[in-house]
Amino acid sequence: MALLTHTLGYPRIGTRRELKKALESFWEGKLSQQELLSIGSQLRKEAWLEQTQQGIALPASNDFSLYDHVLDALWLVGAIPPRFGQLASEPKIDWEVYFRMARGAPGVAPLELTKWFDTNYHYLVPEWHDARFCLCSHKPVEEWREARQLGIETKPVFLGPLTLLLLGKPQERLAELLPPLCTVYRQLFAELAREGVRWVQLDEPFLCTELPSSLLEAYRSAYAFLAEAEPRPNLLLATYFGELAGNWTVVRDLPWEGIHVDGVRAAHELPPLLATFPKGKVLSLGVVDGRNVWKNDYARSLALLEEALGVVGENYLWVGPSSSLLHVPLSLEKETKLDRQIVPWLAFAREKLGELAELADLATRAWKQDPRFLANQEILRQRKSSPLVTRPEVRSRLASLNPSLFRRKNPYPIRRLAQRSSLHLPPLPTTTIGSFPQTPEVRKARAKWKSGEWSQKEYETFVENEIKKVIELQESLGLDVLVHGEFERTDMVEYFGELLEGFVLTENGWVQSYGSRCVKPPILYGDVSRSRSMTLRWIRYAQTQTQKPLKGMLTGPITILRWSFVRDDLGEKEVAYQLALCLRDEVCELESAGIRVIQVDEPALREGLPLRKSQWPAYLEWAVGAFRLATSGVEDRTQIHTHMCYSDFGDIWQAIVDLDADVISLEAARSGFSLLELFTRFPLPNEIGPGVWDVHSPRIPTVEEIYQALLHMARAVSPDRLWVNPDCGLKTRSYKEVVPSLRNMVEAARKARETLLAKKDLERAG
Ligand code: GLN
Ligand code: ZN
Repeated sequence: MALLTHTLGYPRIGTRRELKKALESFWEGKLSQQELLSIGSQLRKEAWLEQTQQGIALPASNDFSLYDHVLDALWLVGAIPPRFGQLASEPKIDWEVYFRMARGAPGVAPLELTKWFDTNYHYLVPEWHDARFCLCSHKPVEEWREARQLGIETKPVFLGPLTLLLLGKPQERLAELLPPLCTVYRQLFAELAREGVRWVQLDEPFLCTELPSSLLEAYRSAYAFLAEAEPRPNLLLATYFGELAGNWTVVRDLPWEGIHVDGVRAAHELPPLLATFPKGKVLSLGVVDGRNVWKNDYARSLALLEEALGVVGENYLWVGPSSSLLHVPLSLEKETKLDRQIVPWLAFAREKLGELAELADLATRAWKQDPRFLANQEILRQRKSSPLVTRPEVRSRLASLNPSLFRRKNPYPIRRLAQRSSLHLPPLPTTTIGSFPQTPEVRKARAKWKSGEWSQKEYETFVENEIKKVIELQESLGLDVLVHGEFERTDMVEYFGELLEGFVLTENGWVQSYGSRCVKPPILYGDVSRSRSMTLRWIRYAQTQTQKPLKGMLTGPITILRWSFVRDDLGEKEVAYQLALCLRDEVCELESAGIRVIQVDEPALREGLPLRKSQWPAYLEWAVGAFRLATSGVEDRTQIHTHMCYSDFGDIWQAIVDLDADVISLEAARSGFSLLELFTRFPLPNEIGPGVWDVHSPRIPTVEEIYQALLHMARAVSPDRLWVNPDCGLKTRSYKEVVPSLRNMVEAARKARETLLAKKDLERAG
């Protein structure tokens, strides 16, 4: 008998990104609500049928969402902040209010958006200020029935009450909100049990983080209360994204009927877990990686399953992916252009289902001789020994790294003098973060080139022309350090993935980022090397168009790593250093070509932080190391910039300073300049450009407000260390907004220079 297979959640967007298209048409008014809902139900149906066909015994339900599963959870428990509208008297999702919460409306800010643990999925942050709870939607029951009508039994999934509360803000009300929230969960359980639901899954990924004892106590009381629901389905407590570690002693005694553990990231925990595993309860082992795209290693998975089988027995052992499959692309089937040697090494969501079914079957047999096992091992052997994966020249360069490669030649005060005499910048220099608007014309041109309609030459002429225009614009606006506009890049990571050895790109490997937004991460499969220059061509052309300093623009090693699917056969530190060496060569090449300012963006530095704080220092050490390795090859006079945005900088401030970049631009306007408060408490980086324009809003900032912001900043940062720039790149804005905003920014900088310099002269005279 095979073990029971289940899933924790499946991709929602559809094979052809149907959800994205439907949502966008609906928002444009081209699709009715009824049509949108029926596309949703079609997508659910396809997902369930697919899972059943691939041999999954218990697929998830209630994992589908038209926008975000955290938003759905808020509707389920009726936690709708009053500013979005009133709840209807009957429990039902009001789709107008639902999308207002996700996207805002004139005068109504949407819920905040933030990263789902350490993934690239973004969820809407619950607001708990005046939250109250009631069972407010029947979505889980309705979707369960929908599957039932197809003859498929599913397991509804929910966010567990503590994870739901911990995802929101403010946290102070948690103790007060927990009991009424749990009451709603009990109603829900009763409703589901009466319907005939046998199992529900409660997602509690926070159990894989460090929790204070007060929270562990909250888990204990909440689950004791939930378990008393009458009637109720069996509870599968789902933990994922890491290890339970010390939390296990509490988790073990919670009243669940089954527990899911992450058999990929926490495989090392299995022996202690099994040693104290409660009798007669289900263990679901997530042996297939829900976060990455590599074919499963059956030897590893089957060894784990065998170990568990010996303790819990086959009636109590389930097989699943480590987490929801939301984080991987749907299927390899449509990848016709991927390197045929690499395809067999990969497994997207659909292929992972097949692996689960096969593993569940093999686990109860003499698998070591089974042809399916042997075939799997043969592919892994091929991958391991492939010359595509290991490049001796990369390995030997990595082995010969020495500390001097991680240090600039001289400390900042000396570099500063060299840079001053080389760049001749005014005080409070103005610049931008790199990209200029990606207009429909730019996107059309790229599509024409990719489809072959345009020759290489035609495309290059087009890009050069865009660069020329944007340089003229920056000159006329009076900016001090110019950029080329990044018109040749669809995406700041994909662009480098296309040019570096060791990456492949998919045609359809889309993964939901939030709502209708999807990303297509490159796949980093082997040792990374750079066989051609990546950005020089464009930046050199741009430099021929201006006498002003031009800023070369690169994506940093950590950001490339974090926004790709990364190989699982080499440590992240090694991969980051390989990327850093490629970037180092590019940086040095730019320098030799006369580029005197080079920016290496690291917007993903913070999100790479491990979920457990105890692992932060180790991560930050190699992450900072990778940046320094990439940027330390240049002379003193070459100015290195970096940029980061949309994250809390406070708890990684020292690491930001340790990057030793000459100039750091950070998003500050969006977060109300709260950044400045840090400067009063901590050492300053060398030079800093806190953003003065919130580029995520269509609003054009006035001269006066930017001027005031600069005066405000100059109180925290010495004016001779201060730069003037927007929060982030201008890619998503239109020229209608960009031109007046930058004009105001330059004018405000001019005014601030006058004021601050006059003040300085006065001080000197006094
Ligand atoms: N240089 C990039 C740009 O301007 C930076 C983008 C980012 O920080 N995410 O678009
Ligand atoms: Zn940014």
